[in-house]
Amino acid sequence: MKMTAAPALRVACTGLLFLALSTVGLAEGGAKPRIVCSTTQTADLAREIVGDDMEVICILGPGVNPHVYQPVPGDNRLVETAALCVQNGLHLEGKNWMQTLARDNGNKPLVTCTDGVQPLDLEYEGQVVKDPHAWFDPRNAALYLNNILAAVIEIDPAGAARYRARSDLYLQQLRALDAWIEKQVSRVPVERRVLVTSHDAFNYFAARYGFKVRSPVGWSTGSEIGGGMTPERRRLVVKSIRDFNVPAIFVETSVNPKMIRQVAGEAGVRIGGELYSDAMGEGGSAGETYLGMMRENTLQVVFALVEDR
Ligand SMILES: [Zn+2]
Repeated sequence: MKMTAAPALRVACTGLLFLALSTVGLAEGGAKPRIVCSTTQTADLAREIVGDDMEVICILGPGVNPHVYQPVPGDNRLVETAALCVQNGLHLEGKNWMQTLARDNGNKPLVTCTDGVQPLDLEYEGQVVKDPHAWFDPRNAALYLNNILAAVIEIDPAGAARYRARSDLYLQQLRALDAWIEKQVSRVPVERRVLVTSHDAFNYFAARYGFKVRSPVGWSTGSEIGGGMTPERRRLVVKSIRDFNVPAIFVETSVNPKMIRQVAGEAGVRIGGELYSDAMGEGGSAGETYLGMMRENTLQVVFALVEDR
């Protein structure tokens, strides 16, 4: 896989780090070092570590799909000013766009948050690939946090004690989140723990909390917006959803929900609410942080599946 190049790139970049810092942090009259992240989740974790000691900027806005994102010229200018870049990895960033941005704009050091994660397999367009949606298991989010922490300390060793102290607090919150989700999910009978969604984002959540993930037959899992749907395939999808015998299926905030709403209507199941998938929510929404996103998703799933049909 192309991502095997990432560690080598990171090692190669380490030597450039102080150069990057001297041109970024100092040239702008003592401005704070800047961390540029690909996804909203990784940016949220970075902010939890650095507080106000560094500036964290996210390339993707709320609700933007990272799989198909195409960088714009402004992204290059942003990465040029970065002391550190952060990506999810495992090809969440389609065609490795964050890795390319980091390389092409001053060979910036790049943290790949999924380094060290035990990846699940995912079928994508007929091929088995590593599932990039690892943050949906809070234990993986802890790995993400530790990966970012190590890189932050590398660029600012003097601040290490503060970065570690903030990370300690957040790791406690992640453990509390994990225990809380387990408790909420325990209200859903085991035979009802089935997640039917329009996009395979929830395998790590499912594996952690005892759910099955089901994709309707005829649903194109590779095509996240239900592209190429024919009337015949649509009939298969509707029949298949009926056969799952679930009270609700779910839509996702970063994926066009129109198709799944129509299909749900035809299959006679409820829409269990919107789940945050590849991106967190807008500022001011309940899902604007990783913890909030996980909390709201859990409540949507639990309440939709315990209610009577
Ligand atoms: Zn995704």
